[in-house]
Amino acid sequence: MDAERITKPLLAWYSTHFRPLPWRVDATPYHVWISEIMLQQTRIEAVIPYYHRFIAALPDVHALAEIDTESLLKLWEGLGYYSRARNLQKAAQTMVQLYDGDLPPDYDKLRTLPGIGDYTAGAIASIAFSIPAPAVDGNVMRVLARLTGDNTDVLSTAGKKKFTDLTWQLIPERQPGRFNQALMELGETVCLPAGTPKCHTCPLRHECVAFREGLTQHLPVRIKKTKRRVEQHAVAVVIANSTPPSVLLHKRAETGLLAGMWEFPHTLSESPLDALPDPVKTVCTNAEALPVCKHLFSHIEWRMAGAQYRIQTPVTLPADYVFASLEDLQSVYPLPGAFRRYTEIVSKLLVKEI
Ligand code: SF4
Repeated sequence: MDAERITKPLLAWYSTHFRPLPWRVDATPYHVWISEIMLQQTRIEAVIPYYHRFIAALPDVHALAEIDTESLLKLWEGLGYYSRARNLQKAAQTMVQLYDGDLPPDYDKLRTLPGIGDYTAGAIASIAFSIPAPAVDGNVMRVLARLTGDNTDVLSTAGKKKFTDLTWQLIPERQPGRFNQALMELGETVCLPAGTPKCHTCPLRHECVAFREGLTQHLPVRIKKTKRRVEQHAVAVVIANSTPPSVLLHKRAETGLLAGMWEFPHTLSESPLDALPDPVKTVCTNAEALPVCKHLFSHIEWRMAGAQYRIQTPVTLPADYVFASLEDLQSVYPLPGAFRRYTEIVSKLLVKEI
């Protein structure tokens, strides 16, 4: 493949079609890093307000290294995949120790930092430091698979290697960051998934095998191996008639899924009462059903049936439980997106009680 026939029209297209996203307008290494981590698994439109809030609260590596974990998770609340936030902080602490609080301008050193894999190291190295390195994500693989008419499974190790090798052949010495961003942008705005690419506006259509041969609906090939495990959870929403009114929260363990986050008590057993510590359980009598909600993690689906209880008497709680007022629910305790619907319901209930 003649690399110039791809890079030239692609870079020319990008010059006039790129979206001026905040981390592109002010593309410091720190900004690029934070945005790339946030953009893993999350749409751009959803990331933008989080990005602004995060950068305003934590403007540099030192601030990120020093913030307490609870405040960090609160800043991340709603973005999901909370290990990303924890890894950001671990990486920031390493940068303070080893690199004077800067990101190292070196692909291999970036790659050793927590939470930074091949894609993110390539994106930071190329965009922030102009180092030629591939940044191959799902968008890029989709474009390349269609462009070359390649039916290798993009979810396989072989597929990832193949499209990474191809990117190495294409990436220009000059402007490697713009090239990577242009490929990603094309994948996000033109070479769309699910068989609806806007080929007639694509700068690469004259080189594209899938367009020429009518294969856009069949590429890329993605062979999914695992099905999500379904778990049924019973959720207990316990409202205390305190001043101000409050709701019972539980702190998750410091390791594993949603580590260190707060949640409404829940259990895999059928009765939500089984989720409660004994002093609370004994004063919860009348249950009112709440709507059924579901949440998808990458490997598990939670189906949640909620029940609401009201208690009058003050109770002594174990250390990993707390009664939170509406204000604390909104500003202190980080709750995962899995509980978004119940958080909305509880917020309305607490407003009514005030
Ligand atoms: Fe994708 Fe169509 Fe462009 Fe080919 S011509 S790269 S299928 S948008």
